[in-house]
Amino acid sequence: MLMTGVRQTTDVNYKYWSPAETMPHREMKKIQLARLREQINYLWEKSPFYREKWEQNGFCPGQLRTLEDIRRLPLLTKEEIRLSQEKNPPYGIMSIPGRGPFIRIGMTSGTTGEPVIIPFNEEDYFGVYCEGAVRCVWAAGIRKEDVVHAAFGFTPFLGLAAAYDCCEHLIGSLVIPGGIWNSLLRLRMIKKLGVTVLMGTPTYLLHLAKVAEENGIDTRTLGIKKILTAGEPGSMSIPNTGLRLEEAWGSKIFDYCGTQETHYLAWMCEEEIGHMNDDLAYCEVLDPDTDEPVQPGQSGKLVVTDLVGKTHPCIRFETGDIVRGIDAGTTCACGRTLSVMKGFMGRVGDIIKVRGVCVSVAGIENVIRGIPECSDNYEYIASKNSNGMDKVTVRVEPQINIDSGLWDYVRKKVAQELQLSFMINMDVEVVPPGTLPVYELKAKRFRDIRPPISDSSGASCSLEKKLSAKV
Ligand SMILES: [Zn+2]
Repeated sequence: MLMTGVRQTTDVNYKYWSPAETMPHREMKKIQLARLREQINYLWEKSPFYREKWEQNGFCPGQLRTLEDIRRLPLLTKEEIRLSQEKNPPYGIMSIPGRGPFIRIGMTSGTTGEPVIIPFNEEDYFGVYCEGAVRCVWAAGIRKEDVVHAAFGFTPFLGLAAAYDCCEHLIGSLVIPGGIWNSLLRLRMIKKLGVTVLMGTPTYLLHLAKVAEENGIDTRTLGIKKILTAGEPGSMSIPNTGLRLEEAWGSKIFDYCGTQETHYLAWMCEEEIGHMNDDLAYCEVLDPDTDEPVQPGQSGKLVVTDLVGKTHPCIRFETGDIVRGIDAGTTCACGRTLSVMKGFMGRVGDIIKVRGVCVSVAGIENVIRGIPECSDNYEYIASKNSNGMDKVTVRVEPQINIDSGLWDYVRKKVAQELQLSFMINMDVEVVPPGTLPVYELKAKRFRDIRPPISDSSGASCSLEKKLSAKV
C-alpha cells in the first residue's frame, strides 16, 4: 500500500495532507519494515550494483527480519554515486533499468565535487518526491487561494522547485516565477501581483528585506503571510535566523530540508516542530567515528534510506550532514506522530572541533543573528595560532546604521556571546558593511586555511577531517 499520489483535496479545512502524518507509531514501524523489505528485494533483482555490493558484504534479503537489520547493509557514499556516473554516464546507479521516460532532472550543487545527476519519471517526481514536499506546503497552510512567488532561479536544485511544483500542480495556487528579477523589481511585483507566500533561501530573503528597507519599502505592507525557506539551514536549525526573518517580513516562517538524492526529509508544522516523512524515508543517526547508532535523540551523522522511490533508491545514503538528533515515538501538539528532526548542525566538513567543542555553522549563526547590531552576513575561518593550536576567527559586518566608533563594542559583544555559547574564546573581527559576499543560494560561510597534516599511513588529510566528525 503506497500512500503517495495526488490527494487533489478540495476540503481546505482538512489539516493533514496524508494519513501517514497521524499514524500510530507501531503502525508506522510495520509500514517502514514492509517497504524496506520490498525495496531491498526490488534492488536485489533490478540493480547489479547493489546486489554485488551487498553480496560482497555477506548480505542477502532473507536476513532482513527487523528494521534494526538495516545495519547489515553497507553505507552508500556520494562518491560511489559519482564514480558510477563517471563510468556509466549520465545517470550511473541513479537509474534503475526500465524506469524512464524521465520528466525532470535534479542535480546536487557540486560544492563537494562533480554534481550528482538525479533523474525522475512522472511517478517518482509527482508521486514520491513531491509527496514529501506537499505535506510541508500544506502544513504551512498554503491553499489554492494563495499567490506564491518563487524568489529563486530555476536551477536543477529541486529543494525549492519541488515545493513550487506542489503549489502549482497539487494545490492549484497561482505561482509566479521570477528567478532573474533583481530585488527591487521583485519587491514591486510582489506588491502588484498580491503575493501572499514567498519561497527562497533564508540568506536571500534576509537580503531582500534589507533592499526593501534601503528603498523605503515597508515589508509589512506587502501582504506576505507565509514564508517557506529551504536550501540552507533555516529556522528549524537556527532559531535566531527564523526570528530575524519573522521580524523582517512580519510573516510566519516555515522551514524544510532534505536531500535531492532521497527525499524531503523534514518540514515545520504550525507549532514550529520539524516533522519527518517516516513512511517515505528511514533515517538513522550514527556516530561518525564508529558508524554505530547514537543514543535516541543524540547528535550524529544522518544516513537515509529511500523506502518508496523506484528510479534511484539510495540505501543507507551518507548525506554528509550532522544533525542535532531525531526524537521518535512522540505526538506533537499539532497532532502529528511523525518523528521530530531537532535540526541540522551543518555539513560534516563545516564542523570543526576546537578544544573538545564542536563549532558549527548553525551554532555560530544562531549567536550572530541574536545580536541586533550585527548584519546577516558573517563567515568563520579555521586556522592555527602561533603554538600550532586550532583557532576560529569569526568575521562579522555591523548593521549599516552602526557608527564605526561603536564597532569595537560590537566586536566585544560578539566575542562575549560566542564565549557564553561555546565556552571557548574565538577571535572576532568587525569588517565594514559590504565586505563579505552576499549569497542567493547556499551561502558558504566556513573557510579552513589550516595546513594539511599527514595521517599514520602517510597520506595527506586535513586536521578538520580527523577532528570534525565526532559530535
Ligand atoms: Zn507538529
